[in-house]
Amino acid sequence: MHDSYELQQEAVSETEIYDAIILGAGVSGLVAASVLLRQNNERIAVVDEYAHIGGNHIDWSTNGFTFDVGSLIFQDDSPLLKHFPELLEHYIHIQPTWGRLNPQGKVTRYPISVADDILRAGPIEICRIAFSVIHARIRQRPLRNARDFAAFWIGAYLLRRSGLKNYMARFYGMPPEHIDLELAEKRMMWIKEHSSLRSLVRKMTQKKPPHMKNKQLARPKAGYAALYEPAKCGLAEKGVTFRLGTFISKVVKNDDHFIVIPTEGRKIASRRMISTVPINITHRLCGLEQDKPLQTITLISLYFSFAGDRGFAQSILYNFSYEAAWKRLTIYSDFYGRTDGREYFAVEVVSNDTIASIELAEAEFRAHVARNNIFDGDLRLEGGQILENAYPIYTHGAPAEADRQIERLKQFGIESFGRHGAFNYQPTARVSTLEAERALGYRHPEPADNPADRDQHDKRLELIPM
Ligand SMILES: Cc1cc2nc3c(=O)[nH]c(=O)nc-3n(C[C@H](O)[C@H](O)[C@H](O)COP(=O)(O)OP(=O)(O)OC[C@H]3O[C@@H](n4cnc5c(N)ncnc54)[C@H](O)[C@@H]3O)c2cc1C
Repeated sequence: MHDSYELQQEAVSETEIYDAIILGAGVSGLVAASVLLRQNNERIAVVDEYAHIGGNHIDWSTNGFTFDVGSLIFQDDSPLLKHFPELLEHYIHIQPTWGRLNPQGKVTRYPISVADDILRAGPIEICRIAFSVIHARIRQRPLRNARDFAAFWIGAYLLRRSGLKNYMARFYGMPPEHIDLELAEKRMMWIKEHSSLRSLVRKMTQKKPPHMKNKQLARPKAGYAALYEPAKCGLAEKGVTFRLGTFISKVVKNDDHFIVIPTEGRKIASRRMISTVPINITHRLCGLEQDKPLQTITLISLYFSFAGDRGFAQSILYNFSYEAAWKRLTIYSDFYGRTDGREYFAVEVVSNDTIASIELAEAEFRAHVARNNIFDGDLRLEGGQILENAYPIYTHGAPAEADRQIERLKQFGIESFGRHGAFNYQPTARVSTLEAERALGYRHPEPADNPADRDQHDKRLELIPM
């Protein structure tokens, strides 16, 4: 009989050996592969259970309509393009506009409209808003959670009246009272920006939002495969092996080697293991005990086509009303053109205890938009998808617990980063790229962007989509 050590020795001799193995072929995994090549690694394996690269950049097409699981907008100054310049020619240029459905049933400016949410509310409401802000600034200390943070800046009254509190609950997957303050401070600085006196004055005097220097881009109509295939070929030519559609049964550590054992096909091994997959999954694959699993959002995407009067002009609409689980919708036909005269769009719904299926999400969405007089006409569901582990839920103490678990993986020898690997809500591919570079200690040799531009860009990111 073999003992387990002998079995593991045998396993090493049967396997393909790499300089590094990367779990996950999303933006973080692809950037990691590019960085490792630049750091003189020659043989790298990227393993993903999806059959495609690009991770949760997932499109879905039918009958000439083309949708995505989320509203995915990119920029031509993204650091991702320093790794994969070949992507640039495949994007299409778009001019997205953002709006929000407020609790009063009006489509107005995102994320807050001074005119509609404050000035047009009437003198009594304006006084209540003002008293609430003054009260918050004087009394609202200490700040304990995301709700306190938002209330401190705009007052509890406007927080509710504007629908921001309901939107936060939708976005976070639970009431903002239960959301860790750290996330609010990291990801919601736009509230502070929008509610400073200087910003309010600027809003009241300016007609147009600040001009963006960079170009906004979307994937080609043909889908993400057409965008990412050139990057995959480029990496493969330089020594990266892709093991896509591969389900991992476990990861074994044998002295200084990690052995990845797939349910089918050859095992692979390396001294270096990088993980960009959810922390819960890495623990399970490695057989490590996890006291507290980290919670993540399950996202339901509804894909509709439509003929009729849509009732708003913006290409992206956020739901700030008091009702319904849908969070945001994106009109893809604004970017790619109508199909057979029909507009088409995707709706993101954060799954919860009552809305946990495509059917229930559709029924609730239809009833809600009918009540608010948007999409007056023929609304047809073309399909839908459910995405688990869309992004982290930051309940109290979750970021600190995630840090402990990442440290534990590090002690075990695994470098874990990325949206899921770091349990870090990375809003854009740009942020994922920068975080992957930072985790691997990489700096581009080319002259850096003008730091002032970069600051400006990062600020804008916090002011635009969540
Ligand atoms: C709904 C949505 C909307 C977004 N909107 C925008 C936007 O408008 N603009 C923008 O720039 N960014 C947007 N992003 C964010 C951006 O895309 C992310 O920051 C980035 O894609 C994160 O990349 P990642 O590689 O860290 O994670 P992911 O893309 O999630 O990749 C993780 C990979 O791990 C794999 N994996 C998981 N478990 C296993 C396993 N057991 N074995 C093997 N592989 C496994 C998954 O299959 C996946 O490929 C959006 C993301 C989402 C989900």
